[in-house]
Amino acid sequence: MTALQAVGRRQSGALEEFRNSEEAGLLARLAQTECLLEVAKLSSQRADLSSYAGTVVGIVTQFVSCASCVLTIDVDDVPPITVAYGVADDVLPGASRHELHVDGSDAGALLVVPEIALAGTREFLSEVAEQISAGLGALVDAERLRRSAAVAQTLRLVDALGDQPSADALAELVAALALLPYALGARLDVDHAALAGAVSVAAGAPPIERGEPVAVPGGTFTLSMRWSWTTPPSDAPDVTDLITLVAAALTRAEEQRELRDAAETDVLTGIANRRRALRALAEAIGHAAHVDDTVGFVYLDLDNFKRVNDELGHEVGDEVLVRFAAHLEAMVREHDTVARFGGEEFVIIGPGLGERSGAALVRRIVETTPGACAQVLPAGWRQSTSAGYACFPDAASHPDALVRAADRALYEAKSAGRDQFHSAADR
Ligand code: GH3
Ligand code: MG
Ligand code: MG
Repeated sequence: MTALQAVGRRQSGALEEFRNSEEAGLLARLAQTECLLEVAKLSSQRADLSSYAGTVVGIVTQFVSCASCVLTIDVDDVPPITVAYGVADDVLPGASRHELHVDGSDAGALLVVPEIALAGTREFLSEVAEQISAGLGALVDAERLRRSAAVAQTLRLVDALGDQPSADALAELVAALALLPYALGARLDVDHAALAGAVSVAAGAPPIERGEPVAVPGGTFTLSMRWSWTTPPSDAPDVTDLITLVAAALTRAEEQRELRDAAETDVLTGIANRRRALRALAEAIGHAAHVDDTVGFVYLDLDNFKRVNDELGHEVGDEVLVRFAAHLEAMVREHDTVARFGGEEFVIIGPGLGERSGAALVRRIVETTPGACAQVLPAGWRQSTSAGYACFPDAASHPDALVRAADRALYEAKSAGRDQFHSAADR
């Protein structure tokens, strides 16, 4: 026997002796009492079930040296929760399994495989299980309450979705869906005009199967749920009902979007009207103020337009307005807003347009307008435009003041002989 082996043997002898001694028993009992106390304290805290389960396993493994510790909470209409430390295996030697009960019904189990079998461990673990059972009732009630509240919450959020659809509103709705009785998780994929595109949101455990896409006015959506059942219980939420509700909400959102669109569209030219222009300007300035950017505002007025009506007729005048609107749309970038402000006056809101880039754009528009309008006018008739330009924040920091600044610049362009542009910065 080497010296090292001798020391090793002495050490395990001492350990064995300690394990069987009075002190070891005393220390173990102290640890067990503390463990029970911690578990008892825990149930008075307002934790949700899964964090409760996680903390219980944490406490048990802290006080009992375990090869494994698995806590399963399984009660009606709440998704089962399992928290495992080590590998769950109740056939391991020394495995100690204790059923949990809530209101006299089975509510899961605590399974512990201690690393060292000490006398009294099984009894102690059974006390822990009783302590868990005692605390579980209130936590399960709270969880059930939270889940039945989710039913009302879902209805409220689906309804709100019809009024104001947004990615945030969808995320809130999906969080509520994932909390419905028996639900483990939810996912909603929406591709809809009212949301200006595709949005996907998920909460809880990922659904295993994707739902069927549902077509609604304005787009499509797919609701995918993950449930805790293999066969749905009789009081389970009905997916068909949920789909019908979401479909109705998105249909209403589309109707509202169409109404708003119509209220903000110019009937003759089909481009934005004054109302949308002012909304776009306020939004652009709000955003630019936030990120320290500029916004260009162009104010255009067709020159001597009265003459077109007087000499060529109102219909030709209308055609010129339609042609001019299309020309403006073709000259700007995608995120600019072109609007008919009224009569033969048009505006452009250009987020990010600065003094120089804005001036360049307006100059190009003024130069190309006669050519564009010539397509609907008799040969030799020259339809020009005048323009005023003002740039946020240099010319003005408020939307109304910016419009006035551009209007003054336009007036100067008219006074200076028309067919030209002036900038508020030139003053
Ligand atoms: P200026 O160069 O000073 O702007 O002269 P102008 O003749 O363009 O200005 P004025 O404001 O005197 O005339 C605007 C004309 O635009 C009068 C009006 O009949 C015409 N107009 C306004 N809305 C429409 C419309 O929807 N269709 C047609 N065809 N004409 C319109
Ligand atoms: Mg005018
Ligand atoms: Mg005019």
